[in-house]
Amino acid sequence: MVVIPRINGEKRRRDNGSYLVKDKLQIHIGNLEPWVVRSFAERVERNCAVTVSFTEGIADLALARNDQLAPEEYALEILPNMIQVSASTERGFIWGLATVYQMIVDAKRHHEGRIDLQSLRDNPKYAHRGLNIDVARHFFGPEEMKRIIEEMSVYKLNVLHWHLTDDQGWRIESKVHPKLHELASDGQYYTQEQIRDIVLYAKERGIDVIPEIDMPGHTSAAIAAYKELSCFDEEIAIQDKYGVFQVVMCPGKESTYQWIYNLLDEVTELFPSLYFHIGGDECPKEKWRRCPHCQEQMRKHGLASFEDLQGYFTNEISQYLRKKGKTVIGWNDVLKASNVSGDMVVQYWLESTPDSYVYPHFVQGQKMIFSDMFNLYFDYPHCMVKLRKTYEYQPKIRDHSQLHGDHILGLEGAIWTERVLTDEHLESMISLRLQALAEAAWTIDRDYDDFIHRLEVHIHDSITQLHALPLDEVVLTDEQALVKALEMMKAMATATADSIQDTGLSEDEHKRISDMFMAEMFGGVDPGEFASKLGLNGK
Ligand SMILES: [Zn+2]
Repeated sequence: MVVIPRINGEKRRRDNGSYLVKDKLQIHIGNLEPWVVRSFAERVERNCAVTVSFTEGIADLALARNDQLAPEEYALEILPNMIQVSASTERGFIWGLATVYQMIVDAKRHHEGRIDLQSLRDNPKYAHRGLNIDVARHFFGPEEMKRIIEEMSVYKLNVLHWHLTDDQGWRIESKVHPKLHELASDGQYYTQEQIRDIVLYAKERGIDVIPEIDMPGHTSAAIAAYKELSCFDEEIAIQDKYGVFQVVMCPGKESTYQWIYNLLDEVTELFPSLYFHIGGDECPKEKWRRCPHCQEQMRKHGLASFEDLQGYFTNEISQYLRKKGKTVIGWNDVLKASNVSGDMVVQYWLESTPDSYVYPHFVQGQKMIFSDMFNLYFDYPHCMVKLRKTYEYQPKIRDHSQLHGDHILGLEGAIWTERVLTDEHLESMISLRLQALAEAAWTIDRDYDDFIHRLEVHIHDSITQLHALPLDEVVLTDEQALVKALEMMKAMATATADSIQDTGLSEDEHKRISDMFMAEMFGGVDPGEFASKLGLNGK
């Protein structure tokens, strides 16, 4: 069977017969709403010239509620005269239909329209299977977002994590703080109407859209529009470089909180998702050290460190969102504080300090989403974050052994767009890794070679829709990847000094992170030896 992600449950051939797919498919949807089948109908029409109509009578495809099934689980019966999909939720039906779609394409292209008689049950390994797209560094329009959402849905990813704000731009219209989109977006932002439209489009495809409003760091754009958010009312411009910037929101002023609450009132209305992401990563504390408001806040609440001041800020914002029924997500940086509330979901990407501060929280049961940058960051070239690494990824924190437990919510791939300028480039970085991620998050029993075979078929059959690099530039052996990476590093070598400045890190920190990166990427390759191969020693 060529389905991606591979079925995670029981499969049974019925007997030797087959079901013949008709060109006009009559669907019985029972008491379900028609939107549940809309994306399926579009797909089979687009890719198989099969048209769909509804019937109350004898159907070729019938949807039946079965409350015994888990929330995203579905059951499929391929019978001699019909296909039956059962599920307990709309999302379960959407996943069942995504499988039926892939089966119909395969049947039409390779088996004269015939699907083997069989029954199966399929239920994901993880509840959270996401993709994080940064639209702040570079903006990607509503149509492009829909193309990506559609691809995600075909492969049963269920979360679009939308990184809407950062130092380089604010991408969401605000009626309460209009200078955000007027002054801090370069004219490139989503209107509220466009947001609602995209959220609905995603819902029809089984996908939850989680907005990320990053705070208190990565807020140059917001502060460029509203300077009073900073400790010293600093006038700054939107950043045109990349990295970590010193001017951040002031957690000492009560007015900062009120400003954020007004914004959250507005943004939460646009996103029905249970989750809300408040970022919390990479927040320098230099300004806070010198700020009288920040110092007063620390005295007032007996906070021992500036990290705990961020913890206080995180808790205040989280509490406000919790009252609105939201579960709050933050990047693992929030755990540097000793006082962060345990009911927050933490998204793991990287600990740049030598000692793991995340692991103890995991052991205590803190819920986590895993987006390990060495395996699941898709902005790195294919030779660095290799397809196999994404495919075989298992949640892990630094040197600790593989993790297990119900409090692993799932996996997210991420694409940061500092150096991604066009739709086509964005798609070529996401594409094919998206399928690997989908299977890593859905299926326990994985097989990389078998996956590559199915992926080839999906490319050939136009089930994958996003622009992709040729498969031989994506599926690389370790040696091929190393050679490519060496070439790339050589080309980048001259730009090293500049890029260190861009990141805002000290040279020491930069070296430690890049050494760690090399070791992770090319396990076993000594970074020093690596550098000498490149002729980089002694620069
Ligand atoms: Zn301050």
